[in-house]
Amino acid sequence: MEINFAAEKTLGKLAKWLRILGFDTIYDPGIINPAESGRILLTRTKRIRDEYKTDKLIFIKSDKPFKQLQEVIKTLGIVYEDIKTFTRCIKCNTEIRTINKNSIRSVVPDYVWENQDSFKTCIECKRIYWQGSHTKRSMEIIKKLFEA
Ligand SMILES: [Zn+2]
Repeated sequence: MEINFAAEKTLGKLAKWLRILGFDTIYDPGIINPAESGRILLTRTKRIRDEYKTDKLIFIKSDKPFKQLQEVIKTLGIVYEDIKTFTRCIKCNTEIRTINKNSIRSVVPDYVWENQDSFKTCIECKRIYWQGSHTKRSMEIIKKLFEA
């Protein structure tokens, strides 16, 4: 199941979380027609909700990112097996790839390089990702998300 999103400007944190879950999510797309874009438009704007009567649009009610994420997941019936956690750059939405540890020796902090074996990088913005304490915290949040 391939689900892509477009999140409007007010939904920055939600967009970030959807990328963490591995969904192709463009942020602040300007004016797009959800029926034509091939993406599910996430909006908090009533005017837009009323303008496009389509199932390609989800009107987000909550102002809390975790609740917003739950709204999206429940509306679309997304289950844990559908997500590909930490496969996409949080900053620019590009898929990230495994990178040879030795090639980034001078780029990451010493203690990280010494304690981590697995690194990934975004080919677009060159940001480097590894399993850190933030990953653990995110995983706990994600687990909670699918418990309810
Ligand atoms: Zn990137």
